[in-house]
Amino acid sequence: MFDLKTIRKDFPILERSVYGRPLVYFDNAATTQKPRCVIDAMTDEYLNVNANVHRGVHFLSQEATRIYEEARTTVREFIHARSNAEVIFTRGTTESINLVAATFGQACLHDGDEVIVTEMEHHSNIVPWQLLQSRVDVKLRVCPITDDGRLDMEALPRLFTSRTRLLACTAVSNVLGTVNPIKEIIALAHAHHVPVLIDAAQAAPHHPIDVQELDCDFLAFSGHKVYGPTGIGVLYGKEEWLDRLPPYMGGGEMIGKVSFERTTFNELPYKFEAGTPDYVAANGLARALDYVSAIGFPEIQAHEQALTSYAAERMQEIADLRIFGPLGKPSSLAHQVPLAHGRGVRGEASASSVISFNVGSIHHLDLGTLLDRLGIAVRTGHHCAEPLMHRLGIEGTVRASFALYNTREEVDTFMEALQRVIKMF
Ligand code: PMP
Repeated sequence: MFDLKTIRKDFPILERSVYGRPLVYFDNAATTQKPRCVIDAMTDEYLNVNANVHRGVHFLSQEATRIYEEARTTVREFIHARSNAEVIFTRGTTESINLVAATFGQACLHDGDEVIVTEMEHHSNIVPWQLLQSRVDVKLRVCPITDDGRLDMEALPRLFTSRTRLLACTAVSNVLGTVNPIKEIIALAHAHHVPVLIDAAQAAPHHPIDVQELDCDFLAFSGHKVYGPTGIGVLYGKEEWLDRLPPYMGGGEMIGKVSFERTTFNELPYKFEAGTPDYVAANGLARALDYVSAIGFPEIQAHEQALTSYAAERMQEIADLRIFGPLGKPSSLAHQVPLAHGRGVRGEASASSVISFNVGSIHHLDLGTLLDRLGIAVRTGHHCAEPLMHRLGIEGTVRASFALYNTREEVDTFMEALQRVIKMF
């Protein structure tokens, strides 16, 4: 049952006010708020269990290790990975992508090789590939987008050459909300014998993920965008790939045997988890995933898509307001888009819970600042996607992004505030 009143009670922060007004939190694509069950589980672990994992014979260490490894199982089930060895805890999407770039770069990339990315990538799926260029001459080939903010699926096949070694692509754009046809993209890349890394940072909170069904080679997401804590994220990798790649960081726990002459490495996934992991955050992430799973993606999507289309429709009332991406045409909301099940994610499937817009010549920062004074939290700027801003010919946008706890009443409050702010100009 999707009971919004009960759900909102699970998120104590939603009850606070800012500047004497009730908070309307529409910055969920940046980070989501945390339900009480996540906060309580982490507090309880610090109060009653805390001990370093994997190293101790004592009771608490074994208890903490059990909780940590159970969290890994919860993640495995959430993304339907084959085994726990394929689930690596990282600090987040950024670290996950950097891990793949560094290790794949070391093991598999040579001068003249190419990596395909897209014009709508977050900086965290652009810069790690560029960092490789100081050591190896790797070329980025960029899949363009169409004017309505979708990947140009006609251009994509032409980017593959005999030197293409990897395709790295976001599942959902953090700026445009575009839901990319990643199953089709993965199949296309595999037909060229090219492995695929999926940035699922914006997908994980809104779409069920099934890595086996997708057949992606790597997939990254962040805990904090899916109602979990900060400082924890996931890298999924097919075991055959993770086995081939060298370790990312060296230190405790990732080793087999160490001597000054020669060091051997631990088995998966520990080979990629050097040092003390944030085991409490891993527990928090597992509780967050349990929370989302208990509500269920069909309910979450039905609610969020109704909310997003309501907001997009109401925003069309404002003259001079331009929505960027597929939502610029309100008919293109994606209905029940499973990223994983082979259905749905096609060229026509389009928008997730993000609306990026500008109004006339008003600067996005001014709009955002004044909305904030009226209690509305939105994000302004380039959203860590400067190449996309260049493509759209703008410096930035205002971005409203929704989560499962947002309401129609909040959209109405946002619209009143927006109209008031626009009048000021
Ligand atoms: N990719 C996308 C599409 C994102 O939206 C974000 C966060 N804005 C990231 C990557 C980076 O995530 P994090 O900062 O949690 O590592």
